[in-house]
Amino acid sequence: MSESRVALVTGANRGIGLEVCRQLAARGFHVVLTARNEEDAERAGSTIHAAGTGSVIPARLDVTDAGSIRELADDLSGRSLTVDVLVNNAGILLNEDDGALEMTVRDVRATLETNVIGAIAVSQAFVPGMIERGYGRVVNVSSEAGQLTSMETYAPAYSISKAALNAFTRQLAGETRGTDVLVNSACPGWVRTDMGGPGAPKSVEEGADTILWLATLGPKGPTGGFFSDRRKIEW
Ligand code: NAP
Repeated sequence: MSESRVALVTGANRGIGLEVCRQLAARGFHVVLTARNEEDAERAGSTIHAAGTGSVIPARLDVTDAGSIRELADDLSGRSLTVDVLVNNAGILLNEDDGALEMTVRDVRATLETNVIGAIAVSQAFVPGMIERGYGRVVNVSSEAGQLTSMETYAPAYSISKAALNAFTRQLAGETRGTDVLVNSACPGWVRTDMGGPGAPKSVEEGADTILWLATLGPKGPTGGFFSDRRKIEW
């Protein structure tokens, strides 16, 4: 893997996103560690020690705010930083116990806005450059909760959002097929974060593993797939 690649991670001030940044920086990436506010990005960035030519670039990015996406894209291009790897990690899980007939439309909208439309908007800002330059890796951090084959009643707004995110993975992979821009969905498993809670079986290191693997795929790696523990899983 080239040591000079630039990776952008959304929702990276804590949890799985922060761990993905830590591991990418340790592998020599320039990591654009983004968070909804700049102070959180800087504070999280200061906990990471990059290896070799790697570095951490803290930046503000609210994936639901088109202006913030534009500002970051302009800022990076002003610094001649082109994004090679995009990890759409930012996500929310609201009122998971509300059933399909109880969940509020407001929660559904907010969930889709962050988990789906946010990933689409950020991808639209950075994937065209990947296509132009002929290299890119996009990892949409999804969840087995979004698997249609096994979906029942767990967290409907969240599950619906992850199924839709997976559909976006398929669309973007279709759009980039035949290029060295590889687009995949990853399920990190049930991970001990603010979202996963303290009783989850996986550490953030374990949760980040499949995401890191997909973010650093070699040429001719898979595209348009859904992976957990580095294995392809059903949609
Ligand atoms: P987490 O600890 O709750 O962290 C979520 C991150 O997303 C935070 O940094 C949060 O920022 C950020 N975020 C939320 N809304 C945002 C927005 N509008 N713009 C930018 N950032 C935003 O969750 P996690 O467990 O690390 O989850 C990371 C990803 O893994 C999510 O997509 C989640 O659905 C997925 N996942 C997690 C598990 C699990 O067991 N933990 C399982 C399956 C899938 P703030 O600090 O500003 O809120």
